[in-house]
Amino acid sequence: MIELPSANCPVCEFERIPSTPYHGAGRSRLYQCPNCGDFIISLMAYRFTPIFNDANTKAIVSHFIRNNTSSENPIFIDRDKYEEILSTFKLPTTSEQLNNLLQWFGYQSNNSLDSIDGFTKNLPALIGAKNQQQVINLLDRLLKDGYIEMENPTIDLRDRPAFNGFCGHLTGKGIAKVDELNHSKTFINFNTPILPIEKLLKEENKNLEVKGSLQLDLNHLLKGSNKQKDVKIGVLKSIAAFLNSSGGYILIGAVEMDKFKLSEISKIRYKAFSNYYLIGVLIENKNTDNYQLTLRDFISSHISKEVSGLIDIYFTEFEGFTFCNVVVNKANHKWYYLDHKFFVRDGNRTVELTDDDADNYKNRNKRF
Ligand SMILES: [Zn+2]
Repeated sequence: MIELPSANCPVCEFERIPSTPYHGAGRSRLYQCPNCGDFIISLMAYRFTPIFNDANTKAIVSHFIRNNTSSENPIFIDRDKYEEILSTFKLPTTSEQLNNLLQWFGYQSNNSLDSIDGFTKNLPALIGAKNQQQVINLLDRLLKDGYIEMENPTIDLRDRPAFNGFCGHLTGKGIAKVDELNHSKTFINFNTPILPIEKLLKEENKNLEVKGSLQLDLNHLLKGSNKQKDVKIGVLKSIAAFLNSSGGYILIGAVEMDKFKLSEISKIRYKAFSNYYLIGVLIENKNTDNYQLTLRDFISSHISKEVSGLIDIYFTEFEGFTFCNVVVNKANHKWYYLDHKFFVRDGNRTVELTDDDADNYKNRNKRF
């Protein structure tokens, strides 16, 4: 039977946090989570809802708690409250998340030039992001757009998935923006989206892999080749390699132009963009929830069940197509295998290492 965890946050999974034993008729526990804040949750709300297995649900509930609780008066989440949250509350858009993060800087510094200490792990719930990686991407955006300055970054933050403690301050531009946000009732748009697909497709990058599909055999479909391939291994290989290297992004839904002739690609709906044909993922599965579940199932059965928290999957629209974005965080504590094979990134390729090569790689890149 499922029980409430004793030391991890039941909503966002933050590890090693204080909690009380079960108490009350509803068998509930109080948690003090650095991300969600203090809250009480009943066993039934946890046992009979998807809180514990759906990343999106977790993020919504976590964001709601953080914005509606206090340590003096912690919010109580039972099944009714849970249903109410899910039916009335949505995650903020990327622009809104940027606003929230910038406003957090504003509150912390009280509009002075004092530097602010923060932890990316403690911020997802507050700004409505799904995980630490999204917070890092948002910080990176604020840095690049000149709203904040920071002491430590010398390389792109988004290439550092484990980036946690930071020290930064608002710039003059940032203070002006916070002021604008505080005095405006309407929501202010940021023009630069996170991980714009056009940028991804134009820049070759060792942390990026573009795939045509998850399961659909495009060679079979478009070239009529007879031997059917187990296409999903392509995506899984990249995931395993990113886990064993420095993390990365996989974009599913575009193919390199030189892989297909015009007469072949024209058999399906497509659009030419840069060196790619955009085809999207709805051709494989119209239901994106389902698509995500399928991918997660593949990951847990071919790589590891425990890897789920390291991988974020979301969908974006571009040029009339829907793309699947897979964000893979670097794993720091262990190595991962795809069906007992060891993959790593070598430049912008994924390669299998065996025997001595694998041992040497592991010795050079220690994990604890
Ligand atoms: Zn939490």
